[in-house]
Amino acid sequence: MSRFAYVNGRFVRHGEAAVHIEDRGYQLADGVYEVWAVFDGKLGDAAGHFARLWRSLDELRIAHPMSEKALTVVLREAIRRNRVREGLVYLQISRGVAPRDHAFPNPAVPPSVVITAKSVDRAAADAKAAKGQSVVTVPENRWGRCDIKSIGLLPNALAKQAARERGAIEAWFVDDLGLVTEGASSNAWIVDAEGRLRTRDTQANILRGITRSSLLSVIAEAGLPVAEQPFTVEEAKAAREAFITGAGSLVLPIVAIDGAPVGDGAPGPVATRLRRLYIERAKATAI
Ligand code: PMP
Repeated sequence: MSRFAYVNGRFVRHGEAAVHIEDRGYQLADGVYEVWAVFDGKLGDAAGHFARLWRSLDELRIAHPMSEKALTVVLREAIRRNRVREGLVYLQISRGVAPRDHAFPNPAVPPSVVITAKSVDRAAADAKAAKGQSVVTVPENRWGRCDIKSIGLLPNALAKQAARERGAIEAWFVDDLGLVTEGASSNAWIVDAEGRLRTRDTQANILRGITRSSLLSVIAEAGLPVAEQPFTVEEAKAAREAFITGAGSLVLPIVAIDGAPVGDGAPGPVATRLRRLYIERAKATAI
């Protein structure tokens, strides 16, 4: 099936989609991105992802290339043209094309906008979730502004590759105090030895995951005990359950950390229930 990408105002064949070599995204990782899960052709957690996108752009002083309304239309068109029912839509906005110079172009140039959409086999993803997946830990080595969803993902890419090479689906970054910050492309959670849900607070240097924040609402509605508190790798290994959240993984049970089983080494009841509740809510609220 031929796919289409949106590049700076028009849809082009995916295989022919390109940006200029002096795009500051390509040269300097001077840009941001967002990813929405797509449920039944609609955008999941739409408002949260838009809000974070505008914030990331504002933090970097990159102009908004279009309104939220216009962007919604283009994202939906990308979903439609690629015939995505269940999947992901990816948006990248860079500061634009300018002769290479570290400082911002003056006068400013129009931001570059790229959108792609792809289908995901949700049945296969559900099977992976039912089996449970594993993570490995790596030292935290990222910059101090992980709250900005920047396209500067080299440490994340290296961490993910380390995970793959060690047979795991995700890498958890661990800071100097031995506390887990987050995953290479997900937020990290446990159900601790006391049965409390735990995930790192967003005052820490992590991305404010939209799935994380929606799941906190689900948890509040379900009346489950929760604390936005960091946990050590040792606590995670001794936890009853572990899982990760993200637009890609949704809620995904983790059954091993650095090769050591979590709980009884199978997806636990809390993570399994939260995956179902999150997906139900995301489907019901998708636009
Ligand atoms: N942390 C990092 C580093 C990520 O890249 C992602 C996914 N983009 C997340 C957390 C999860 O965020 P979200 O739930 O908004 O997809």
